[in-house]
Amino acid sequence: MSEQRYDIAILGGGPGGYVAALYAAAKGARVALVERDRVGGICVTVGCIPSKALLDSSHAYWLTTHGEELGIIVQGASFSLPKAVAHKDAVVKQLVGGIEQLLKGRKVDLITGSGTLVSPGELKVKAADGERSVKANAVIVATGSKVGMPPIKGLAEAKPLDNVAALALADVPKRLIVIGGGAIGMELGTFYAEVGSKVTVLEMLPQPIGYADPELVRLLVRALAPKGVEMKANAKVTEVTRTGKTVTVAYEIDGKSESVEGDEVLLGAGRVANYSGVENAGLKTERLGIVVDDRMRTNVSGVWAVGDCIGDPRAPKLAHVASTQGEVAVDVILGEDAKMDYDIVPNVVYTHPELATVGLTEAQAKEKYPDAKSARFSFKASGRALALGETDGLMKLVTAGPHGRILGVHIVGPSASELIAEATLAMRLEATTEDVIATIHAHPTLAETFREAALVSAGTAIHTAGR
Ligand SMILES: Cc1cc2nc3c(=O)[nH]c(=O)nc-3n(C[C@H](O)[C@H](O)[C@H](O)COP(=O)(O)OP(=O)(O)OC[C@H]3O[C@@H](n4cnc5c(N)ncnc54)[C@H](O)[C@@H]3O)c2cc1C
Repeated sequence: MSEQRYDIAILGGGPGGYVAALYAAAKGARVALVERDRVGGICVTVGCIPSKALLDSSHAYWLTTHGEELGIIVQGASFSLPKAVAHKDAVVKQLVGGIEQLLKGRKVDLITGSGTLVSPGELKVKAADGERSVKANAVIVATGSKVGMPPIKGLAEAKPLDNVAALALADVPKRLIVIGGGAIGMELGTFYAEVGSKVTVLEMLPQPIGYADPELVRLLVRALAPKGVEMKANAKVTEVTRTGKTVTVAYEIDGKSESVEGDEVLLGAGRVANYSGVENAGLKTERLGIVVDDRMRTNVSGVWAVGDCIGDPRAPKLAHVASTQGEVAVDVILGEDAKMDYDIVPNVVYTHPELATVGLTEAQAKEKYPDAKSARFSFKASGRALALGETDGLMKLVTAGPHGRILGVHIVGPSASELIAEATLAMRLEATTEDVIATIHAHPTLAETFREAALVSAGTAIHTAGR
């Protein structure tokens, strides 16, 4: 058994772990990264990136086959799922290779194998060529998440698609049932609907994307309906049965029993924290995961935890959150004064149209600030959105105070995932609507809708009636 001594050893090479490794190495630390599968984790290999690669394919197909108004008439267009999957796989392969090169370039020791935290400063790694011990002054646990099977009668036996299977199907199912209207369910539901599936989403809560502003969610649900996504809210799934090639999902809405038939059923919710390798390390856990403070310290001295494996209810389980937590953990380990701040975290659902939010919703703001108010600008009034033929949705600004301090920005519309970056920076810089109005925006752009909404908020609307 060979032994190494590092400044930092990291268990798990997803966006939490590999970013922490690169960041720590850039700061001069000697780093070991232990990963049992491919670096990049769920996000790069079977999550964020592959789902977006497929969604970009389906959106292009949708625009091609629904582009008549824009002068695009294509006869005999068809969608090849195997080709889209091959493109997705190529993108993943390129990114994984890129991360491996970066790790090599920064002299991070990438140790391939399954790791176990045996004491605060030691990992045991089972690698293909035997077991080895990795010793370090500090350990960061970044073991991510795994599929959790909701306790629904017959669900496990019906072999539902998880994120891995759903990203690699050979054929487009004619009818797809999605259990859970979270981001994953809505995104994969959108993908399959755009390439021809009839999709039914069953959501237990009163709305899908439970955290988001209800006004925007209503717009999103309305925009997805013509694509073939049927939303059933307040639907509690009671039983799943597979008979031959047909899956039947029974559910209750307001005490009334209903059912829907499909060819496949997909788990759109239910991922849980993964404690693989740290089960016996004495780390305190709660319902959502490992307990950490704002500096990502666990209850065990010398052990930090970041990403989807942690259980802070303020921390959304997102790749960019995991990466930021990884950087904070490294800073703290290296003696700097860093801590997480979850007030300004952008959150995107990559449906078409996209939904993106940052900061407080209107309801949350009104609870905190008596003078909080909201202003809207519809994409129907945006020249660029009209040119694109993508006018579903709006830009909503939540503000308070005499100068209109921006407390939250909520967008449903084309490229919402890109538009939210300006809003996030504005909030980070504590900008007001006055600042946004004073910022000249290029014309014609979708980004102008941010300034137009600020004008509405200030009572000086230009390209809308502004009520
Ligand atoms: C379909 C889907 C789409 C998503 N889309 C987005 C999106 O668009 N944007 C976004 O921000 N988030 C998205 N997410 C969420 C995002 O993937 C996660 O938040 C992110 O991957 C968390 O990073 P992590 O480093 O904490 O964990 P993970 O990415 O889960 O990585 C953990 C790594 O640890 C390794 N590991 C675990 N235990 C051990 C062990 N004992 N020994 C060695 N290695 C171990 C695993 O193999 C894995 O590689 C999506 C998730 C899914 C499933």
